[in-house]
Amino acid sequence: MEGQMINALYLGAAMLFILALGGLSSNENARRGNLYGMLGMALAILATLLSPGVDRYEVIAVCMALGAVIGFVLARRVKMTQMPQLVAILHSLVGLAAVSVGYATFLDAETQFSGSEKVIHDIEIYVGVLIGALTFSGSVIAFGKLSALIPSKPLLLPWRHGLNALLLLLAVYYGIRFVAAASPEQALLPLLVMTAVALIFGVHMVIAIGGADMPVVISMLNSYSGWAAAATGFMLSNDLLIVTGALVGSSGAILSYIMCRAMNRNFLSVISGGFGSGAKAGASSTSAEQGEVISTTVDEVAQMLKQAEKVMIVPGYGMAMAQAQREVSEVTRLLMAKGVHVAFAIHPVAGRMPGHMNVLLAEAKVPYDIVFEMEEVNDDFPNVDVTLVIGANDTVNPAALEDPGSPISGMPVLEVWNSKTAVVLKRSMATGYAGVENPLFYKDNTRMLFGDAKGNMDELVRALA
Ligand code: NDP
Repeated sequence: MEGQMINALYLGAAMLFILALGGLSSNENARRGNLYGMLGMALAILATLLSPGVDRYEVIAVCMALGAVIGFVLARRVKMTQMPQLVAILHSLVGLAAVSVGYATFLDAETQFSGSEKVIHDIEIYVGVLIGALTFSGSVIAFGKLSALIPSKPLLLPWRHGLNALLLLLAVYYGIRFVAAASPEQALLPLLVMTAVALIFGVHMVIAIGGADMPVVISMLNSYSGWAAAATGFMLSNDLLIVTGALVGSSGAILSYIMCRAMNRNFLSVISGGFGSGAKAGASSTSAEQGEVISTTVDEVAQMLKQAEKVMIVPGYGMAMAQAQREVSEVTRLLMAKGVHVAFAIHPVAGRMPGHMNVLLAEAKVPYDIVFEMEEVNDDFPNVDVTLVIGANDTVNPAALEDPGSPISGMPVLEVWNSKTAVVLKRSMATGYAGVENPLFYKDNTRMLFGDAKGNMDELVRALA
């Protein structure tokens, strides 16, 4: 009876997680999706507490209270702009959990298997620790890169492909030794060596990936964290953890595929690192060769906007940094009230996490029906009178199309230079995350509105009102 109830709770939780994923796939249903997810997690916790073999309630209570306090403080303290690195560090914790459960299962003297059952059990432990360790170290490096503690440029060791192959061979070799070991004492060393190998592999894999390719790494680590959770589920014989892990793992894999397609990259080439780092990398012409930069003022931009029939707004990471989304929304409202046609163009890798811009615009109550994906509007730019580029840089860089030696070469970008005038709001001539010079800033029809995006948009609201 108890078992049946737990199974029913697990089934309910799994269904709620699937509904949560479905909800999160569109802006309108995202809030509901989150609610389903929370409810699913509550059911999962309840089922776990009721499971046979769970009796140390005082330990669970202390751990849950500690986790709740840390989660609560983090959620209150972390600024919206720090979300990408928070997500990365949370992925690292899933990896660490898989490693810990793997070792705990390995050291658990009570579970005795023999024959093929033992082989399967050993493989579960080995694979779980392997995925967990590389998710952990890779996510820590991703955290460092996203919070600018580690440079976003790829670190390319001359023998990196050889090193990757060696690490893979070592993991397979020690895997065979681990499974074939006659006693737990003999199996411990292979497990420890493989853990070190997986940790090194995680660091090496992420550190070799350049700035512009980081979105693929983020979604890939997201996927790995899911597979690490699924592996934990196998070790603990917990069906819900297997289902949930597989859901996260496969949706992360789909996201990685979408990101690769959006950036016109091959997944295997991205994870082997070093994209755009050949001899000509960064060979875009220097500012002196590119010509003059024409700066503008808020009043001039207000005049341009008042006379425009069609305005396109292209947000980027700078809008998130400046937290200018509410002012952007207000400018949109004022322009629409004056009869100007306003639309938003969102690049799939704008910001620092998938869907970053959509979340900010939804928070600022920008209507969903004027927010478009890149491929829906990229051909419309010739009909646009004024494009406002708010803190976007790499995602509007023509070098991606024009300079084969550029680190972002081949990545589709929003072709804002095709509009009649492109106004770029940023603080300086600094490069974006990929560290590439942007020829857009020097084009005849580009106007630079220097300064903090929030301050400038706020002044623009006043000038338009
Ligand atoms: P970029 O990172 O290319 O550029 C952002 C620009 O915003 C900077 O050039 C900066 O210029 C400007 N900026 C920063 N703060 C402010 C401010 N307060 N006011 C005004 N401007 C500001 O942004 P994009 O969105 O175009 O591109 C995203 C990049 O991040 C891509 O290279 C992408 O690959 C990468 N990435 C994306 C991830 C994702 O999942 N979406 C994950 C990891 C990386 P200045 O300093 O002069 O103001």
